[in-house]
Amino acid sequence: MKKRIFVLIGTPGSGKGTQAELLKRKFNLKHYSVGSILRREISQKTKIGKQAEAFVNAGRLVPDNIISTVVFKRLNQDSTEIILDGFPRNLAQAKLLDKYLESKNRTIFILEINLSRKQMGQRVSGRLSCECGEIYHRDFKPPKKKGVCDICKKKLQIRSDSDMEVAQRRFVIYEKETKPVIKYYRLNQKKYYYRKIRGNQAIERVFEDILKAIK
Ligand code: AMP
Repeated sequence: MKKRIFVLIGTPGSGKGTQAELLKRKFNLKHYSVGSILRREISQKTKIGKQAEAFVNAGRLVPDNIISTVVFKRLNQDSTEIILDGFPRNLAQAKLLDKYLESKNRTIFILEINLSRKQMGQRVSGRLSCECGEIYHRDFKPPKKKGVCDICKKKLQIRSDSDMEVAQRRFVIYEKETKPVIKYYRLNQKKYYYRKIRGNQAIERVFEDILKAIK
């Protein structure tokens, strides 16, 4: 069987990070969350973190050259099955991924997790994240112990981009920049296997739909 790459695309708050973690555990995949990598770089004050910080906090896309370094440094070292969570987010990034895939014999699943703008608003406020990449939500996915990561026991942080104005901006950017990527994949279904998943369901139901979609 060809090795798989799962590309998770979704509105802010759609739960793609949570679903990526479930997929990772189920199939023993590598999970690359571009947002988590950036948040880690920012908290560790690395060069990339300093370059990306203002964009992430404002809810804007980090420039493609920085993202490209972050993503391909890791992909080039990896021959296992992987999940790309949060990449590509615009057409230029989709073309970069195409180029990378030219020489790779992989099956590509594009999974779009969809939420309306109103549903996004409810999901985005109350989000917490941990440096290790785990994501929580005050109401929808609370940690066992308040403010502490279930996995690594570190203190959870309120995401710097969870402010409502920033979240609305992220939604607008999603509509403008990322929707064309979805269309691109939808129209290229000979090359990619594309499925749309309804995000406004319980975490377990979304995951069931993902499993059905990739069967
Ligand atoms: P996420 O955790 O996927 O919601 O991403 C959080 C933030 O990281 C986004 O709002 C962007 O500022 C930045 N980011 C993540 N992935 C990308 C990407 N592929 N291109 C540009 N910026 C990104």
